[in-house]
Amino acid sequence: MRKPLIAANWKMYKNPTESTAFLTHFAPLIKHHDKAEIVLCPSMTSLPALVDAARGKSIFVGAQTMHWLNEGAYTGETSPTMLTAIGATHVLIGHSERRQYFNETDTTVNLKLKAALAHGLIPIVCVGEHLTEREAGLTANVLELQTSLALEGVDPAAAAPIVFAYEPVWAIGTGRTATPEIAADAHKIIRAQIAKSLTPELAASIRILYGGSVKPDNAQSLCCLEDIDGALVGGASLDPTSFAQIVTNAT
Ligand code: PEP
Repeated sequence: MRKPLIAANWKMYKNPTESTAFLTHFAPLIKHHDKAEIVLCPSMTSLPALVDAARGKSIFVGAQTMHWLNEGAYTGETSPTMLTAIGATHVLIGHSERRQYFNETDTTVNLKLKAALAHGLIPIVCVGEHLTEREAGLTANVLELQTSLALEGVDPAAAAPIVFAYEPVWAIGTGRTATPEIAADAHKIIRAQIAKSLTPELAASIRILYGGSVKPDNAQSLCCLEDIDGALVGGASLDPTSFAQIVTNAT
């Protein structure tokens, strides 16, 4: 049984005061909601305050990226041990905006995934095709390649915590969503690749989220399909009422 996971990616929005104010409004709206794992991913500067504020509320707090090394001369970076030291539990890896603007590659995704597992952080690994790739009929190739490279050299014995997020790049922040059929097909492709790269048992237990313009009114149709285990939400997660509605509708 895969427990649904609904994650909020706040991107470069909300300072620490705004982040904890969100929680003050959001937490009562989802009180006693134990059907899903809820994860808020704020900016780095809001992480410590949000971790503290979320204690005892069954809401997890994760980072939007990290480096794969523990320390070193890497100006501006944050290490896995720095995240665990403040109580972060999850980390987004390979978000398309990181791939597009910050030189994230399949190789660094793989290094970060292994580092997250080694440090007990739950990695949420984002994969997804560009519009040109979809139009050229390359969606399956892209998803298989990104998934297999992310998992290269990962020990199946350590892989259970991994979460994937299928995020078609053309649907992120555009208001354009994948149809449930497109999402379901993509999730099947990713799951089949996980079976090849790891084991069929892990493919059956690893969660795959959908991300790309999820809103309260489409959360149910997108997230309640057989192979879809929750959502990674950007824009609509910035408002506590809207994100709470997504949690309710998607689970
Ligand atoms: C995201 O940032 O991961 C995302 C899916 O954004 P949006 O929901 O705004 O499309």
